[in-house]
Amino acid sequence: MARNFNVAAEKLGLDEGLREVLRRPDRELTVALPVLMDDGKLKVFTGYRVQHNFSRGPCKGGIRYAPDVNLDEVRALSAWMTWKCAVVDVPFGGGKGGIICDPRTMSLGELERLTRRYTAAIMDILGPDRDVPAPDVNTNEQTMAWVMDTYSMHVRRTTTAVVTGKPLVLGGSRGRREATGRGVMLTCREALKKLGMRPENTRVVVQGAGNVGGIGAELMHREGYKIVSISDMYGAIANEKGLDIPAVMAHQKKTGRLAGFPGARELTGEAALELPCEVLVPAATENQITSKNADRIHARLIIEGANGPTTDSADAILEKKGVMIVPDILANAGGVTVSYFEWVQDRMGYFWTEQRVNTSLEQIMVKSFDDVYAMMQKYKCSMRIAAYILSIDRVASVYRLRGVFA
Ligand code: NAD
Repeated sequence: MARNFNVAAEKLGLDEGLREVLRRPDRELTVALPVLMDDGKLKVFTGYRVQHNFSRGPCKGGIRYAPDVNLDEVRALSAWMTWKCAVVDVPFGGGKGGIICDPRTMSLGELERLTRRYTAAIMDILGPDRDVPAPDVNTNEQTMAWVMDTYSMHVRRTTTAVVTGKPLVLGGSRGRREATGRGVMLTCREALKKLGMRPENTRVVVQGAGNVGGIGAELMHREGYKIVSISDMYGAIANEKGLDIPAVMAHQKKTGRLAGFPGARELTGEAALELPCEVLVPAATENQITSKNADRIHARLIIEGANGPTTDSADAILEKKGVMIVPDILANAGGVTVSYFEWVQDRMGYFWTEQRVNTSLEQIMVKSFDDVYAMMQKYKCSMRIAAYILSIDRVASVYRLRGVFA
C-alpha cells in the first residue's frame, strides 16, 4: 500500500508536507485491559485503536481479535480504510482496532468482559461523530452489540450509531450481510461492460466461500455468470459446465465445507486460481496472487473481493499481461458503504427497506467505478493507482480547503 500511495502521490504532484500528513496516523491509542478470567485469575490484554485520518468525518474501521495482531498491522489497515472510504466518497476517515487475544480459547463471558473493557478504555476517542468501529477478523454482530451497550451505558443514552455491523434489532441495516458480495458483483458488471463482455459468456473462478466470496458467487450466479470453481480453506471444487451455486452453498452450510459436493471435481485452492476463466475473484485472504503464480493466471479481469490479495510484484506481471484489476479499495467497498447507510439510519432513527439499501449501494458503486475509470484514463495508469489518486486527491483537497489548524 505504501508503494501505491507513493506512486499516486507522485502522479498527483502532491507536495511533500501533505504527503507526510497523509502517511501518518492522526492518533494511536494502546490500552492495557485487565479481565477477570473464568478461572478467577486476572489477565491483562493489549488493545489498539488507530485513527489514521479524520479530516473527512468520523473514523471507520473494524476491530479484530487475534493472537498476532500488532500496532503496525492496525496502523496499515487504518490507512487502507481512509482510502477505501474516500474512493466511494462516504464521509468517513479511516480507523482500525485490535486486541491481542486468542478468541478460540476464550469463553463467551470472557470475550464479553474483554470487549466491554476495551470499549471503556477507548471511550474518549469513540462516538458517532468521532470513530465508528465495525466487525473484523473474529468479531461479529454480538461483539458490536456489547460495544454499543457499553458505550451507551457510559453516555447514559442508547447510541446505536457508535458501531455498525449490529444485529438488525439493535439498529443494524438491511442488506449489510450481502453488501460486500453485492459490491463485488456490481463492480464486475461495470468492468465487463468496459471490456465488451457479457455475463452469460463469462467463466468465473472464486476464491473464498464466506461472506464476500460465497455471497458474491451467489449473486453473480443469479446474474447469469458461469461459476466454474469456488474454494474454501480446505480446497476447491470445479465444474467446467458451471456450478449450481445455491446448491453448493446449501452443501457448505450442511457439511461445513465445499468438498464432497456432488457433480464437481476437487482440486487444490492454488490450482483453482490457474483454471481457464475470464474473471477471477480472490475473496479469501491476502497475498494469494504472487510472482510465483501471476504468469499462469488466465483471467482477463480480477475483482479483488479480499483485502490485498495481489502482491506488488504480481501486480506488475499482470499489468504487463494486460489483465484488468479492480482493486480491493473499490471492489470490496460495498461493505463500508452499507455501514455508512447503517450509521445514517441510526442517526435518523428511520430504517430503510432492503430495496432502498441495494439501490443506493448500486448508485455509489457504479459512480465510484466510473470515477476510478476516468482517473485511469486521465493518468494512463492501472485501476489500482487510479483509485489511490482519486482517494488521495479527495482527502488532500479537504486539507487545502480547511487549512492546517495552528
Ligand atoms: P469469511 O471468514 O466469511 O470467509 C473467508 C472464506 O475464505 C472462507 O470460506 C474460508 O474457508 C476461505 N479461505 C480462507 N483461506 C483460504 C485459502 N487460502 N484459499 C481459499 N479459501 C480460503 O471472510 P469474509 O468476510 O468473506 O472476508 C474475506 C476477505 O474479504 C478478507 O480479506 C476480508 O478482509 C475482506 N473483506 C471483507 C468484507 C466484509 O464485509 N466481510 C469487507 C471488505 C473486505
